[in-house]
Amino acid sequence: MRCPQCGRETPDTASFCIRCHATLRFVCPACRHPQDHGGTCDACGADFEKYLEVLGTRMVEQAEAERRRARARASLLRQVLLLPLTGGLSLLKYFHDRMQGK
Ligand SMILES: [Zn+2]
Ligand SMILES: [Zn+2]
Repeated sequence: MRCPQCGRETPDTASFCIRCHATLRFVCPACRHPQDHGGTCDACGADFEKYLEVLGTRMVEQAEAERRRARARASLLRQVLLLPLTGGLSLLKYFHDRMQGK
């Protein structure tokens, strides 16, 4: 394959030109079809930029959901950590009461 930018002969497997680093191979984000130009996919017609935009918002939503999950986990962890404290206090109270002869 010849680089369309500088004309350098590059191996067919290369994704970037070894001399000017121009992108030689674009892989469709929707169907993984490899082609030598960006824009729209030759195989499924997906618009690369639009598709990546949608993918980007989906990733942001996923990160937000992950954050929410982590927060829920943290509060659960706090409850578990507080459990021996509250349990220990009632135990202390029990021994205190016994020592008072109640
Ligand atoms: Zn080049
Ligand atoms: Zn495609």
